Amino acid sequence: MEYISLEKKVDNYDIEVIIEKYKNGEIKNNDTVKVKGYIHRIRKMSGFAFVILRTSRRLIQSVFTDGESKGSLDNYEEEDTVILTGTIVNDERSKMGFELRVIEIEKLSGPIETLPIVINKKQVDCNIDVLLDNRIITMRNPYERAIFKLVDGILFAFRDFLRKEGFTEFIPPKIVQAGAEGGADMFQIEYFDKLAYLNQSPQMYKQIMVGVFNKVFTTSPVFRAEKHGTRRHINEFEGLDLEMGFIDSFEDIMVLEARMMKYLVDVLNKDYALELEEINLKLPEVKDIPMIKFAEVKDLIAKEYNRPYRDKFDLEPEEEKLIGKYFNEKYNSQFVFVTHYPEKKRPFYAKEDPKDSNYTLSFDLLLNGAEITTGGQRINDYNEQVAKMQRRGMDITQFEDYLTMHKYGMPPHGGLGIGLERLSMKLLQLENIRMTTAFPRDMERLRP
Ligand code: ATP
Repeated sequence: MEYISLEKKVDNYDIEVIIEKYKNGEIKNNDTVKVKGYIHRIRKMSGFAFVILRTSRRLIQSVFTDGESKGSLDNYEEEDTVILTGTIVNDERSKMGFELRVIEIEKLSGPIETLPIVINKKQVDCNIDVLLDNRIITMRNPYERAIFKLVDGILFAFRDFLRKEGFTEFIPPKIVQAGAEGGADMFQIEYFDKLAYLNQSPQMYKQIMVGVFNKVFTTSPVFRAEKHGTRRHINEFEGLDLEMGFIDSFEDIMVLEARMMKYLVDVLNKDYALELEEINLKLPEVKDIPMIKFAEVKDLIAKEYNRPYRDKFDLEPEEEKLIGKYFNEKYNSQFVFVTHYPEKKRPFYAKEDPKDSNYTLSFDLLLNGAEITTGGQRINDYNEQVAKMQRRGMDITQFEDYLTMHKYGMPPHGGLGIGLERLSMKLLQLENIRMTTAFPRDMERLRP
């Protein structure tokens, strides 16, 4: 009988494996190694050439010497996939500690035509539309891909932190009968002989799961049919959502989020240093995060910047920017919690502040002048929830599933929702959310 072995196949042609072996002395100066990768760039000099090999996280410099290295570079071009055989030459200037002297290059495959756009410069030199139109290859550019490796780190850290805190991950459906926040911003789809919607938020499902596991989270696509083309909105984003029960106050959720932000920055600094260096970014130090009430910050910003506000019930994007500036300058913090948002603007499940029912036990977290999170305490009492729905003129028969959990008992609970791409954009200090979305969906864009 033939078997598939359980023994791990170590790829000795993987540069990360080679670097590990070099570090622990298994491979040393003058040894021969083989490395798999892409030819990123060839820089011809007189009598020799630098061949820059691109591997999954690095650019590796190798030297091809005419007459010494086998064959000719005339047969190679950028984006060829190759196995490069080379000699290790110790070099302190290299991040790996060595460079390679080429013995031979074996070509595995190559492009059939010239690339439509130059991707082997430090950054791709084009506007965002061209960048996105050519996403399939522009993402190979080291600066671009560093962004997506960092997004991977953020997603990993969110999950890892919550698992360590005893949270359980669950999967909500993406096709739903109705929305948590009302139908206006939802994509309608045909579902056999019925109409259905794409999920606009996992809100109901995460509250249901609190009744099962107490502390829960999900990372799942969220769809919003919002008709705006801003730099911070897209129509499909990855929602990082958590919910927890038996809280003493909605501040418990803010404490958890502050600690999560610290964890996330620590993970990126530790395990994603190559990418942070690639995009030349120093992440903010996460210390205790200042918090201020919505009503207070509205007045503060209006006074400080002599800017009367138009919207009494929400923060305008310009105000968020100024809040970011103010807290950065005055309190040296890129993060700010704004709490107690008006009842009028928060959803039907938001718990009102017992001290003033015009406001809710809720918060947004702002980072570098834009909202990255909305959170708060939810109503957990059945009668209180029904009364609030009735005050809002909602038809409670439409919310039978939602109210079932309240009917059979729910602890005081609350949670938050973060958009992965928005968080990444603000943390990496990029100007457009499409820079941190691999394949963005917006009003204009449905491909690639
Ligand atoms: P905004 O005021 O920025 O439109 P929102 O109040 O509609 O956001 P929520 O519904 O509270 O946002 O969603 C929680 C989080 O999800 C936001 O803080 C943000 O990080 C992210 N988010 C919301 N809408 C979008 C969107 N259209 N594109 C990308 N991320 C979004």
